[in-house]
Amino acid sequence: MAKAIAMASLVGSGPQRGMMRVAWLLLAAGLAFLPLRWLGWLDFLTGWLALGWLLVLPACGIIWLAAERYLNRAAGIDNDGIFFSGWHTRGWSALAAGSVLTAFYTGLYFGEDLVWPGSAHSLHDWLQAGLYQYFDPLARLLTGRVADKWFVYSTLYSYAVLLFGVRMLLKYRHQTYQVWRTLSVIFFQLSFAWLVPLWLQAMNQPGYYFSYWWPLKPEYLYPGIWLEWLGKQEGGFWGLYFLIFSAFISLIGVPVLTWYFGKRWYCSWVCGCGGLAETMGDPFRQLSQKSTRAWQIERWTIHTILLLIIAITILLWINSIYKGELLGAWSQAAARWYGFLIVSAFGGVIGVGFYPWLGSRIWCRYGCPMAAILGLIQRFYSRFRITTNGGQCISCGNCSTYCEMGIDVRWYAQRGQNIVRASCVGCGVCAAVCPRGVLRLENGPLLDRQGTEKNMVL
Ligand code: SF4
Ligand code: SF4
Repeated sequence: MAKAIAMASLVGSGPQRGMMRVAWLLLAAGLAFLPLRWLGWLDFLTGWLALGWLLVLPACGIIWLAAERYLNRAAGIDNDGIFFSGWHTRGWSALAAGSVLTAFYTGLYFGEDLVWPGSAHSLHDWLQAGLYQYFDPLARLLTGRVADKWFVYSTLYSYAVLLFGVRMLLKYRHQTYQVWRTLSVIFFQLSFAWLVPLWLQAMNQPGYYFSYWWPLKPEYLYPGIWLEWLGKQEGGFWGLYFLIFSAFISLIGVPVLTWYFGKRWYCSWVCGCGGLAETMGDPFRQLSQKSTRAWQIERWTIHTILLLIIAITILLWINSIYKGELLGAWSQAAARWYGFLIVSAFGGVIGVGFYPWLGSRIWCRYGCPMAAILGLIQRFYSRFRITTNGGQCISCGNCSTYCEMGIDVRWYAQRGQNIVRASCVGCGVCAAVCPRGVLRLENGPLLDRQGTEKNMVL
């Protein structure tokens, strides 16, 4: 009975159901493009028409579905029926989506090396012919070249942040914090992580991402890239400018901003990984593990990876200073393995492909070395905290359920304790879903380990 009521609230009234069917049809037509094209049924579609079908139809379907679902109800968080929906709780549709995402990321990172036995073509060749080539018109317009895999990747990534960002805006439209935060991640992804790097590449300059820094983008502090950028400096100032910007933001910008705002300024407002998790990953945020064991594992893995990248960066510089005589090719091999295992396999394939299985912030919680640094500053030297009005808490558990970082927010709320946790990304969803207004994200005086105020010494 409870399931029937929940499902009725999900599918809506008669006319609404009709509109949703149309939206589903648009989405299905868009997703069918690649298989139909493969069968040769859509060969008449070329250039912009093919790309338009591939991108515009699913976009219309997804935004229409979100509008039907959220705009036909009063503004407010609507999570009715979440635990009766297979899409939200590892049902077959979620597992299928996770498999497609995982396969795409595997093909993207390792496609050149994956060759089917007896075939002359790698997975990359299949993706080039079956997907990448449709992006040529857009790539020519923006860069003057045909689309390569990184163009397609960054375009699809930005497309997903924009599309599911609109869904977030509709869902959380009653919360000013959520609206501005979502607009911010859309802006940073579309500009600093997509258009600006493409524009720089079109001018034969390094495709620098202004929204990623060491250690999230470890090569930005490797000696090899410094030499390359300074080489590109001939006839321009970009290489030197990037080096100064990277050094400034890593050494001064990150600590100061995190002291002032907590890690939320980056993880929930700027970062592309966080941007995708907060938009496309939102339907899966309740899947994050809440156990104490998961908390223990998270602290070990994220800090181990941080130590690893610090050690690798130092070794590379030592090796560079001694012109390779001290460590030979060993430090380069360590950097390559880090790139393969941590950046590509963990951050890419698992970090995004496993959203529908393990929740939306797997990488941010267990792997990201940038989040580890920000978390340490936030935990021990930041003004950010979530304050709780314990007397109002009814122990419903919404806050803990929808915390994507697996923090048991209710435990703190029941005790009226401030929440100062290294892993909290300040997404604010715990406060948004609380029916009693118990939680507030605030900046204030520093707190000690018990969550009480202490004197602030800079
Ligand atoms: S505690 Fe709240 S603000 Fe922090 S990550 Fe969890 S849901 Fe987001
Ligand atoms: S959502 Fe609000 S009322 Fe419910 S347990 Fe959390 S703090 Fe308490």
